[in-house]
Amino acid sequence: MRSELPQVRIFDVPFCKWGMEQTVAYLTEAVQKRDPHQIITANPIMIMEAVEKPAFLRIMQQADLVVPDGAGAVWASQKIGQPVAERVAGFDLLHELMQVGNDKGWSVFLLGAAPEIVMETERKLKEKYPNVRFAGVRDGYFKDEQDEAVIEQIQSAKPDLLFVARAAANQEPWIAKYKSRLAVPVMMGVGGSFDVIAGKLKRAPKPFQRLRLEWLYRLLQEPKRYKRMLVLPKFAVKVIREKENMKKQ
Ligand code: UDP
Repeated sequence: MRSELPQVRIFDVPFCKWGMEQTVAYLTEAVQKRDPHQIITANPIMIMEAVEKPAFLRIMQQADLVVPDGAGAVWASQKIGQPVAERVAGFDLLHELMQVGNDKGWSVFLLGAAPEIVMETERKLKEKYPNVRFAGVRDGYFKDEQDEAVIEQIQSAKPDLLFVARAAANQEPWIAKYKSRLAVPVMMGVGGSFDVIAGKLKRAPKPFQRLRLEWLYRLLQEPKRYKRMLVLPKFAVKVIREKENMKKQ
């Protein structure tokens, strides 16, 4: 993460301490300067992936901005004694940026999810943010051999915002690999957000979010997620065990 940003490290993964408002203000400036940024909205599942896979840790460290998505990341920062301001969920950040884009006439490129889902996402977002220009849309089911064509499509569209909705294990390495060629001011992985915007999945209602139980709601909606969630208790135990060491860094 860019060294000038205020940060806390959770198992070597740097997180920006800012809340939503400051994050959006910073990225608004990035768009105005056309300064390319990879933004990662990271949760404990991704932190644990970084603990296990050095290549993924490097991607997180080399991203320009990492924001605390997920209640567990906020909780861990508190345990370390260097609390982040609040949770900055990827889904909310997408909407905040679209809102600014609507005021300023930005353009957006949507990349990811199944073809009908990304089309429906575009339709819904156009309705909500009529002043945003939709510079391009493409589904997320393409092979590595097609990367070149996708990159060229994005380069010629020259968007201000690029949202990539592919699986977490896929979208961050993909952006990291091509960010210098894409050079979009905001390049951000948004996971299952297009499925929610298109109406295929529901976001957890506010009470779940307030009780920090969004993960439980997602689990109930998509039980196949349980396997990857088994790392969450491991994460909690590791934070409690190692928080004193992390305080010293
Ligand atoms: N997805 C995609 N291409 C792929 C795999 C997944 O576009 O090769 C999309 C999928 O349709 C969904 C989103 O990525 O809209 C998130 O998928 P999933 O929930 O499996 O990912 P994760 O929870 O790991 O981020």
